[in-house]
Amino acid sequence: HLQDTVTLNNGVKMPGFGLGVYKVEEDVAIDSVKVALNNGYRSIDTASFYENEKGVGQAIKESGVPREEIFITSKVWNDEQGYEETLEAFDRSLKKLELEYLDLYLIHWPVKGKYKDTWKAMEKLYNEGKVRAIGVSNFHVHHLEDLMSDSQVKPVIDQVEYHPHLTQEKLRAFCEDNDIKLEAWAPLKRGRLFDEPVISELAEKHGKTPAQIILRWDVQNHVVTIPKSTHEHRIKENADIFDFALADDDMRRISRLNKDERTGMNPDSFD
Ligand code: NAD
Repeated sequence: HLQDTVTLNNGVKMPGFGLGVYKVEEDVAIDSVKVALNNGYRSIDTASFYENEKGVGQAIKESGVPREEIFITSKVWNDEQGYEETLEAFDRSLKKLELEYLDLYLIHWPVKGKYKDTWKAMEKLYNEGKVRAIGVSNFHVHHLEDLMSDSQVKPVIDQVEYHPHLTQEKLRAFCEDNDIKLEAWAPLKRGRLFDEPVISELAEKHGKTPAQIILRWDVQNHVVTIPKSTHEHRIKENADIFDFALADDDMRRISRLNKDERTGMNPDSFD
């Protein structure tokens, strides 16, 4: 089930569930990624900004899992944006990961005045076959509209902060209409959702943990999810969500927890 995939708008298949490694130091990342791969994970989300691409690459090699079975995402950071800069940043990421190609490359944040040039470089990398799919992160609807009005290749995905306190209804509807997948970062709101009575009640009802309830809600909403953990028992726990289903009413109750509350920056006002 962990290999259950979503089909991106260019036909490429991506696991609907994976491991995030933000704020995971290089040597810890090696262990976490290996544990995840040994427990059936087949998608890893990193970024040049996380400064652990080398560790991720080493873990992939040491895991013994064939490269083509793993879906690897990285991202171009804000100070690497621009056309030439992005081409160079991509090469640096590939080198650190010791890979021949990436599965998905994302614009990390919509840097004003730069993201369109960045995208042109991404299109080149895609057309040259160096990356199987290209997408964006932290784009609002207006950023997507602006980008798509002036590009050849449509983003396959928008990776944004998404959890029961930030359900992104407007963006979700836009992405659905445009065949762009939504991917959740901070799906667990970095551990700040487990006291929600609705979540604890549903955890009890289904005999699951609060984290599992939230991640299952992502899966049933067709939102790609990449929870982070560095602990083996949680890496396993987070993945153990394919043996139960939330009822429609459970789903609605979770969605109603929305309060448009971010833990991270707003894409209209980041530095
Ligand atoms: P998250 O919501 O995945 O929370 C991770 C934290 O939740 C862990 O550090 C741990 O404290 C806790 N946790 C995890 N599993 C748990 C469990 N089973 N029980 C109890 N607590 C648990 O937050 P995140 O790491 O910020 O987001 C996930 C991934 O999304 C990142 O690692 C990264 O890959 C990506 N991300 C992307 C962006 C972006 O701008 N594109 C920003 C932030 C994160």
